[in-house]
Amino acid sequence: MGTPRLKDPAEVDAMAASGAVLAGVLDALADVVAVGVTTNDLDAFARERIRAGGGVPSFLGYRGFPGSICASPNDLVVHGIPGPRPLADGDVVSLDVGVTLDGWVTDAARTFVVGEAAEEDLHLVAVGESALADAVAACRPGNMVGDVGAAVQGRAAREGVGVFPSLIGHGVGRRLHEEPQVPNVGRPGQGIHLRPGLVIAVEPMLTLGRPAIRLSPDGWSVFTVDGARATHAEVTVAITEHGPRVLTPWGGSGRWP
Ligand code: MG
Repeated sequence: MGTPRLKDPAEVDAMAASGAVLAGVLDALADVVAVGVTTNDLDAFARERIRAGGGVPSFLGYRGFPGSICASPNDLVVHGIPGPRPLADGDVVSLDVGVTLDGWVTDAARTFVVGEAAEEDLHLVAVGESALADAVAACRPGNMVGDVGAAVQGRAAREGVGVFPSLIGHGVGRRLHEEPQVPNVGRPGQGIHLRPGLVIAVEPMLTLGRPAIRLSPDGWSVFTVDGARATHAEVTVAITEHGPRVLTPWGGSGRWP
C-alpha cells in the first residue's frame, strides 16, 4: 500500500469541475432510462454528454474496457459491458460513470429502477443511497477509513441487506484507482486517517441475496452467485477541514451536505 496523494484546494476545485460534468450525465441518464432502451443506447448517450461537457469517458479503454460506462442490470453487480439488451419493466440497472476533465478523474454510480418496480427492489435501491449518505457523513477529519466501512455495514445490517466484502471503493485523482482502498465493511477507528485533501470514491454495493460474487467469462461482469439483485451507489468525495465535500452531487447538489 502506498501513501495516498493528498490534493490541495485548487486541485479539489478542479476535481469538482470534473465531478459536475459527471453529475450532469447521471442526472440526464435518469430521464433516458426506460423500458426498451438498450444499455448500448445509454452508453452512447453518456459518451456524447461527457464529450459535450469537455470531458473524456475515463472507463473507455481502461484496461481494455469496451464501454464508456458500466451498465449492470439486476444480478449484475458492477462492471457490466453495455450491449444490445433492452431494459425491461421492473429491471434494476446500475450505471457507473467516470469522467476525466483537465486530467482529473471522478467516479460515480447510481441505480435506477425501470418502469414498474417491485417493492423489495425499491427498498434495496433506497438502502444503497442511505448507506452512501451514511458513508459520506463519515468522511471527515478525525475519522478513519474503517469508519466509512462501518457506516455502510451498519446501515446494511439494520436494513437486512447484504454487503459484498470483496467489492470496495478507492482513492481517485489523476488516476481512476489510487490509494487508499475503501472497503464497505470495517471497524470504527481502524485503517488510515481521513485527512483534508484526501479524495475517495465511496461506493456501497448491496444485495437482497447472499453477498457472494462470480466473474463472468467476459472478464469484467461481476454477478451475484445466487442470482439475487444488487444495487450500487457511488460518489467521489473530498475530505475537507469542514467535513465531506461531494464532488459528483447527482440528484441535486443539496443531497449530501
Ligand atoms: Mg469506483
